[in-house]
Amino acid sequence: MTVQIPAVLYDVHECLSWYEVPRRLPATAAAGEACVWCTRPADATAVELAPSAALRRLACQRCYSARLAWYLTWADWHTHYTVCTACRQRQTCYVGHGRRLLHERTAQAIGKKPECVVCPAPLLPTELVGPVKWEGTTRHSIGYAHLRCLTGRASTR
Ligand SMILES: [Zn+2]
Ligand SMILES: [Zn+2]
Ligand SMILES: [Zn+2]
Repeated sequence: MTVQIPAVLYDVHECLSWYEVPRRLPATAAAGEACVWCTRPADATAVELAPSAALRRLACQRCYSARLAWYLTWADWHTHYTVCTACRQRQTCYVGHGRRLLHERTAQAIGKKPECVVCPAPLLPTELVGPVKWEGTTRHSIGYAHLRCLTGRASTR
């Protein structure tokens, strides 16, 4: 038996399944017998990732919830960013910064080092940074950019 995902989280679930699963999997994970992230043998609580083919992909609860937190904190930050005047005008915003810090903590927990999708250099704590969506085919579709690197409105949507 595998855990069912609530419908409201399905978009997130698909996104994690498509963009976050490593391209090269060890045999056990490729066979659907181990977690795709930590490669520990799957048990009854494993989450079944969105099937992209006949391939079964499993994640353990721990890895899955860590990535869920990573995604949802980004979404919170992005939601704020798109409606906040201070953030859009590239001014210091404590709410935006707080959401960024929260998100960065979840990124760190899963070994991600966020970098700018434009330049691309690491994001320093002293730099103003915004969350951006981008269309990547090989990597995840959520990212970040230095506010100074963003030109025009389109790139921040
Ligand atoms: Zn795992
Ligand atoms: Zn703001
Ligand atoms: Zn940059």
